[in-house]
Amino acid sequence: YIMSKNIKNIPTVDLDFFVFKWIALGLIGIMVVAGIINISLFYLMRKQKVYYKSIIDSSRNIVMVNDGKYIVDANKMFFTYFNKYNSLEEFRQEHECVCDFFIEEGEYIGKTVKGLTWIDYIVKNQKSINKVKIKYADETYYFMLNAVLISKEDNYYSVVFSDITNEEHYKHQLENWSITDMLTGIGNRRYFHTKINDEIYNCMRYKHPLSIVMFDIDHFKRINDKYGHKVGDDVLIEYTRFISSMLRESDIFCRIGGEEFVILLPYSAKSDAQKIAEKLRIGVEEHKEVVPITVSFGVSQYIENEDVDSILKRVDDALYEAKNGGRNMVVVK
Ligand code: GH3
Ligand code: MG
Ligand code: MG
Repeated sequence: YIMSKNIKNIPTVDLDFFVFKWIALGLIGIMVVAGIINISLFYLMRKQKVYYKSIIDSSRNIVMVNDGKYIVDANKMFFTYFNKYNSLEEFRQEHECVCDFFIEEGEYIGKTVKGLTWIDYIVKNQKSINKVKIKYADETYYFMLNAVLISKEDNYYSVVFSDITNEEHYKHQLENWSITDMLTGIGNRRYFHTKINDEIYNCMRYKHPLSIVMFDIDHFKRINDKYGHKVGDDVLIEYTRFISSMLRESDIFCRIGGEEFVILLPYSAKSDAQKIAEKLRIGVEEHKEVVPITVSFGVSQYIENEDVDSILKRVDDALYEAKNGGRNMVVVK
C-alpha cells in the first residue's frame, strides 16, 4: 500500500490504522513467543526438578534443605530413618528440628555448639569432622554431617547426614577392648592410668577427697600350684565379681597386674577408705567361693598437688607393709 502510493497522498487515518495494526500484531506475536518460551521453561524446569529430586532420593545419605531451624525439604532416606512419619508436614507437627533427636555427648554435637546453632557451627567448621548421635524409636544412629549455605536470601542450607553407625560401633568396641581386662571384665592398667589422672583433676578442681585402695591376693602362686591355672583364673573372676558387688557406682575398680587390683574412691577420705578396705577384707575372707583366699590391702589419700607417682608409691608401700606384717590386713599410709 505504501509502496504503491505516494506517501503524501495516503490519508492520515489509513496511516494511523496501518501503524496500529502492525504494532498490535507485533505485540501479539511477542506475547505468543513469550508464552511458548514460558511454557517450555516451565516444563523444562519441572522435568529438571523431577530429575534432581530422583538423584537426591537415590542417595544413601539423608539429604535435607533446612532454613537454619526447620526442615524445608528432605529426601526419601529421611523417612527410612524417621519411619513413623509419612511426610514432612507430619514430622513438623511433632518436631521443630531434627536436632530434637541429637544426643549431646563426648564428640557428638548437640542442638547448639559453642553458642552457635548446630548448622551454623558445621558451616563454620567445614574442615573438622562433625558427628551426631541420634536416638530414634529405641535405635541409636551415628551420622557425619555436612552443611552448606545454598541460598543467602532464604537462609537455606543443604545438610547431608552420612550414616557411620557401623564404623562408630566398631570404634567404640575397639576403645572398650583397649581399656578392659579380658579375664575379669573390669578396667585394665591403661584404664586405671587414664582414670587416676581424671580423678586427680576432679578432686583438685572440686575440692573433694580422693583415696586409693590397692590389694593383692595372698599366696596366689600356691593356688595356681595346688589347683591349676584354670582354678586360679576362676578365683580372679569370682572375687572380682564379688568385690565389684560391694562397691559404689562412682568407685573405679581395675586389675593392674596378675592378681593386683586398685580401687579409686572419689569423695572418700582416708578414714572412709580404710573402713571400705576392712569391709572388703572381711568379705573376701568369709566368701570362700571356688577356693578360700585372703587379701592384703594398702590405703592412702591423695595430697593436694602431689603427682600420680607419689600417691601410687605411698599406697604401694602400704600394701608392701601389709604383706610383711603377716598378710590379710589393711595398712593405711
Ligand atoms: P603374695 O602373698 O606375696 O602376694 O604371694 P603371691 O604368690 O600371690 O605373689 P606372687 O607375685 O609371687 O605370685 C603371683 C602369682 O599370680 C604368679 C602368677 O602365676 C599368678 N598369676 C598372675 N596372673 C595370673 C592370671 O591371670 N591367672 C592365674 N591363674 N594366675 C596368675
Ligand atoms: Mg599375691
Ligand atoms: Mg602380686
